Amino acid sequence: MSRLKRLSGEACTYFVRDRCTRTRSPEESAEAKCALLEERRKVGAQTLDRLERIKRLADAEDREVARRHVIQKNLEAMTKLSCPGFVPASGEGPVCVHQHLVYCLLLLPACTGRCEDFLVRREPGARAKGN
Ligand code: SF4
Ligand code: SF4
Repeated sequence: MSRLKRLSGEACTYFVRDRCTRTRSPEESAEAKCALLEERRKVGAQTLDRLERIKRLADAEDREVARRHVIQKNLEAMTKLSCPGFVPASGEGPVCVHQHLVYCLLLLPACTGRCEDFLVRREPGARAKGN
């Protein structure tokens, strides 16, 4: 007896490199976020905060010295951040090949085939990339 096979979800709006990017719950979305991106965002926010506080210094020269120091520290902190799964998307760039928006594709569930949430891509004849 032949078994029914699910149709491929490849033409689905949510389908990205065999993963399902559909939002399920805020908790699941939070867990699938790219940790490296999150860490970079935190370091960047701290740097902006420090730069903002520097503006309160009265002396222009002091402000410039402090600004350079903060920028240097930001660079050092950013350089130390890493992720074991990181693969540069192009050459040696900072973007990971597994990154999709703010998410890590490796942490998103696999598409199990055309399901009830299947939403056909709008572009006529468009195919999912990377397969
Ligand atoms: S593998 Fe890439 S996308 Fe996933 S968490 Fe690491 S850096 Fe982010
Ligand atoms: S077909 Fe279903 S499981 Fe596959 S990507 Fe679309 S919504 Fe997700």
